[in-house]
Amino acid sequence: QAWQEQVPTLAYDRVMAVQAAERLVLARRIRRALDREEFELHYQPIQRLSDGRIVALEALLRWRQGEGYVPPDLFIPLAEASGLIVPIGRWTLEQAARAHVRLAERGLGDVAIAVNVSPVQLLADDVLEAIGELRERYSVPRGALHVELTESVLMRRPQVARMRMLELRVAGVRISIDDFGTGFSSMAYLRNLPLDYVKIDRAFVREVHIDQRNASICRALISLARGLDLGTIAEGVESAEELAWLRANGCDQAQGYHIGRPVPLEQVIGLIQAAA
Ligand code: C2E
Ligand code: CA
Ligand code: CA
Ligand code: CA
Repeated sequence: QAWQEQVPTLAYDRVMAVQAAERLVLARRIRRALDREEFELHYQPIQRLSDGRIVALEALLRWRQGEGYVPPDLFIPLAEASGLIVPIGRWTLEQAARAHVRLAERGLGDVAIAVNVSPVQLLADDVLEAIGELRERYSVPRGALHVELTESVLMRRPQVARMRMLELRVAGVRISIDDFGTGFSSMAYLRNLPLDYVKIDRAFVREVHIDQRNASICRALISLARGLDLGTIAEGVESAEELAWLRANGCDQAQGYHIGRPVPLEQVIGLIQAAA
């Protein structure tokens, strides 16, 4: 009887050991990727629905591997667990500031750059200092840098997170709550935190013009955000029908493959200039 219980335990331990080893290898590869400059940012346009203009670009991390890219969902969790997200995040913020300089040089200085900031990074001590320094070094104007935060950060250390957010706001950074509606107790966050935008998760935008449940959720979120004086950004817009519905129902901004996929900066600049 005793050994019967031990067999699965042993097998389980072995699995865990392998995973730990793999995790270590991956963490080492991530660190090397940073040194070898294998990361790059792609930029996805965010459109203002009232006039169709591109008002912001979301910076999305890419890890180049030969001809292809490792998707961020595969390595960001590990980068967070190992703390490597802090140097990666610092690099990302600097790239974003430089991207804004390039936009400004092309007469597109009023297009903002939105950066995803991981909970680990927000809670690390130097994020504010880093942003202040970058803003100064690259003369990034107020409002040109947006930070996207998910609810998980706000749940773990609500007081620290709130302080950081207030400080970011003072430093001229706008704040969006990302993937809204997929976490917990979202209402309290909307009420208590210094936020500028709510990003409606792709799950609720899908087929919103025909899916009655999604339509109800989107309508409610748009109305809620408006009541709290927050802007709304719909994510994952994949069709003209979804876009038209969102515009008709008072959503402020939209992002998705229908408007533009994440691409290198030069390419998205071309797209903005062609549309203007
Ligand atoms: P996210 O912040 O929710 O980013 C949106 C994701 O949806 C991106 O995936 C984007 O490529 C994808 N997307 C955009 N439009 C559409 C659409 O119309 N249809 C569909 N099906 N997908 C669309 P991506 O680039 O693979 O990024 C995945 C996640 O990785 C991001 O989700 C974000 O949480 C994280 N991430 C990406 N870059 C960074 C970064 O620099 N730092 C941190 N901490 N996280 C990042
Ligand atoms: Ca995001
Ligand atoms: Ca999102
Ligand atoms: Ca997401």
